[in-house]
Amino acid sequence: MKSRNALLLILLVACAGVLAQTNPAPQSQVTVIRAGTLIDPRTDEPKHNQLIVIRGTKIEAVGDATATSVPAGANVIDLSNATVLPGLIESHTHIFLQGEDPAKGGYDIQLLKFYASYRAARATVSARRALEQGFTTIRDMETEGAGYGDVGIKRAIEEGYIPGPRIFATTRGISTTGGYPLEGYAPGVDVPKGVQIIDGPIEARKAAREQLDYGADWIKVYMTHRSWVDKDGNLVSQPTLTVEELKAIVDEAHGWRRKVACHAYNGEGLHRALDGGCDSIEHGLLLDDAAIAQMKRQGTWYCPTLTVYYTDWGPENTPEGKRDRARASVHEQSFKKAMQAGLKIVFGTDVGGFPWTEPIAREFSYMTKFGMSPMEAIRSATTRPAEMLDMQGAIGVIAPGAYADIIAVRGNPLVDITELGRVNFVMKNGQLFLHDSGAVKAN
Ligand SMILES: [Zn+2]
Repeated sequence: MKSRNALLLILLVACAGVLAQTNPAPQSQVTVIRAGTLIDPRTDEPKHNQLIVIRGTKIEAVGDATATSVPAGANVIDLSNATVLPGLIESHTHIFLQGEDPAKGGYDIQLLKFYASYRAARATVSARRALEQGFTTIRDMETEGAGYGDVGIKRAIEEGYIPGPRIFATTRGISTTGGYPLEGYAPGVDVPKGVQIIDGPIEARKAAREQLDYGADWIKVYMTHRSWVDKDGNLVSQPTLTVEELKAIVDEAHGWRRKVACHAYNGEGLHRALDGGCDSIEHGLLLDDAAIAQMKRQGTWYCPTLTVYYTDWGPENTPEGKRDRARASVHEQSFKKAMQAGLKIVFGTDVGGFPWTEPIAREFSYMTKFGMSPMEAIRSATTRPAEMLDMQGAIGVIAPGAYADIIAVRGNPLVDITELGRVNFVMKNGQLFLHDSGAVKAN
């Protein structure tokens, strides 16, 4: 029986390489995963020796191996030496950004010289990178001048043409005049912007309507832009939209039953974001006590992005270097305060802001280094964002009725969180994408 299963797996693997991304798992296909250890983020203690029964795209049953029967004809995948978890959720990505290396033209060249097709081709690679690292769902936080490209990538993934995670798309992003690159060009030179620029509540509402009409699952708003350190050593951030402008966007999005994510570092822009009714605060580098209290009261989600603020620091004692160090330092303090206050924290990295070749899971190490328990860190990338995305019970859990988004690692991430950087098994929607050293990688 064992060798037959192994043969079936090899066949499955061989077929998956060719077919996995062109044919969704047929509803009749039954797969059983034998999990040595199963982490269910809804409970504190992992379970052992579990069977997960998958029919088509969804999980049908989960139970003790001794009490759960293997349906006849099922493909059995043996992960009895592994720790199995729900597919992870990344709540702040940019598939259309590639790290903005200044030596390669930085941010500007992407909008000025890169063809849309080139950017789209690279975004497909970013999407696959997320999936192969175990992130089966991403909330992509705007395309940086690539228009509605994320909606197209999402569709290509859903239709099985390319491999990638489930995408919640925000499309173009919104800021104000003076509130987003490209900038620094002579007046009168018409350059593209990395977001849709609005001024006034009427334009704000219209932008939200357009973006929702063209497929935005969320709206992304930049509530702060430039930041610097003042003469007293405090981080200062330039606010962008007024409360009235933001309220028009939030009102429109909520009418469509969609949510609004606000990039906000600190100060006036952060407070306007909360007064305007943002659903999630992105980065939130410096959360003062009033902001934390308001987030708690309003149930605002907090998506810190620690990793990206520890990369590419300017030289010490330069204005950029001081700013970069100040950002990281206040972000760490805010993260700790948010944890103490019991804010709803979701895992996000801003990957794309740093190259997609770098590991997304590094964020877990920063979170636990700053005092979050490994289980809470796992929840921030599973059950919590599932709730934020109104997908409770459908993603972020291994439970009957959920999509079969399942990953595995060899060791125990509750003991060593860096294990999550060595995901060696990825299934999404019941389709095997990766097993061991890339055997099932499509494309
Ligand atoms: Zn971002």
